[in-house]
Amino acid sequence: MKIIMLGAPGAGKGTQAKKIAEKYAIPHISTGDIFRANIKNGTELGQKAKGYMDQGLLVPDELVVDLVADRVKQDDCKNGYVLDGFPRTIPQAEALDHALAEMGEKMDYAINVEVPDENIVNRMSGRRACVDCGATYHIVYAPTKEDGVCDKCGGSLILRDDDKPETVKKRLGVYHDQTQPLIDYYTNAGILKEVDGTIEIEDVFGEIVKILGA
Ligand code: ADP
Ligand code: ADP
Ligand code: ZN
Repeated sequence: MKIIMLGAPGAGKGTQAKKIAEKYAIPHISTGDIFRANIKNGTELGQKAKGYMDQGLLVPDELVVDLVADRVKQDDCKNGYVLDGFPRTIPQAEALDHALAEMGEKMDYAINVEVPDENIVNRMSGRRACVDCGATYHIVYAPTKEDGVCDKCGGSLILRDDDKPETVKKRLGVYHDQTQPLIDYYTNAGILKEVDGTIEIEDVFGEIVKILGA
């Protein structure tokens, strides 16, 4: 089962992708997580990506396309995977289709998690991420047992720099210009599915399981 998660920043793609990966035992591939890990480790890719990310802009297609094309060819992707945060532009989607076609494969589902812009800034200012394991929480909607401490690993939680309101507004603009056209792209490909992302996390997941099958 090969799945793409679509939606605005903060729509809940990562939250749902992690649950899908666990239930269906397939890898969760988040390009944002890959870039953040590269920044943390001081790699050349991380250094190139950081400036764009800090400004709320997309990292150029050429820095992300090969990375994902290589990742989905790995052994653990044999039974499928869930892509979170990729593709984000039409050229990325075309490159993905091309890489899959070379292997005689195609994507099965593109799930669009719909949340109106007015909910997004609120979502993002409450998002907290674990510095050690990348788990995400929300101070109101998905709180940890102990304030500021990751339930999964005990690491400390931070507000991502790019989740501050000014950068979030910029990212929303970028989303509408560059990423939203993918909704038509995957509608035309016949694989788009929509879910309401404003309901509770478990209920969103229930809708997704209905689409994917139990
Ligand atoms: P969110 O989950 O809030 O949408 P991500 O973690 O997916 O954020 O992405 C954070 C940042 O990483 C983006 O704002 C962008 O700069 C960069 N990024 C992640 N994935 C991509 C991609 N596929 N193409 C270009 N830039 C990306
Ligand atoms: P994305 O990967 O699309 O950027 P996240 O999955 O990181 O989004 O979710 C953004 C924030 O909103 C997180 O703090 C998360 O805990 C919270 N969140 C996710 N889904 C919901 C939901 N259905 N209702 C309320 N808050 C949610
Ligand atoms: Zn953690």
